[in-house]
Amino acid sequence: MAIMEILTYPNPRLREVSAPVDVFDSKLKKLTEDMIETMYDAHGIGLAAPQVGVLQRVVVIDTRPKNDEGRRYDNDEMGELEKKVTQPLILINPRIVGGVGSTTFDEGCLSVPSFYETVERKEVIEVETYDLSGKKYKFKTDGLLAICIQHELDHLEGKLFIDRISFLKSKKIKNEIQKHGYPKKEKKEKAEVKK
Ligand code: ZN
Repeated sequence: MAIMEILTYPNPRLREVSAPVDVFDSKLKKLTEDMIETMYDAHGIGLAAPQVGVLQRVVVIDTRPKNDEGRRYDNDEMGELEKKVTQPLILINPRIVGGVGSTTFDEGCLSVPSFYETVERKEVIEVETYDLSGKKYKFKTDGLLAICIQHELDHLEGKLFIDRISFLKSKKIKNEIQKHGYPKKEKKEKAEVKK
């Protein structure tokens, strides 16, 4: 496995629409393994392939909390449907085919490090996706996993969370990055919710 470089805004690759995967081979499996390792290394809870410069519809996610030894576990703060999903989760060519309710969360992004804003998302979603073997299946989820999936699927369309906040807030963040770049060190406690 290998840790990949995570691209940051304003890298133009983050603005492109990713192509569907049509070959389910060992190369795809290796990509997901590297993405999972990269996500854990960056203390993120989700990573989409375009964030590592690969313009394919591939997403990896693990929203489970970590204990002091770094082991991931299910806990009561997780959504009822979220707990039923085996993680780390690998999504190939995912689509949201249903969604109800609305919820908000202070989102961050590994491609916009150290910035957080409240974003509104659907509360419960139904996802249609392929697994690594090319098998199509559907599942419903809620909690942080539902939020994270919506965030990651945006990446596949070239969209970032800073596009889903008010024009003024978005402009402020973009100006800040343009003027000062990204802070060198990130706060650890906030790092847990980066996607
Ligand atoms: Zn992101």
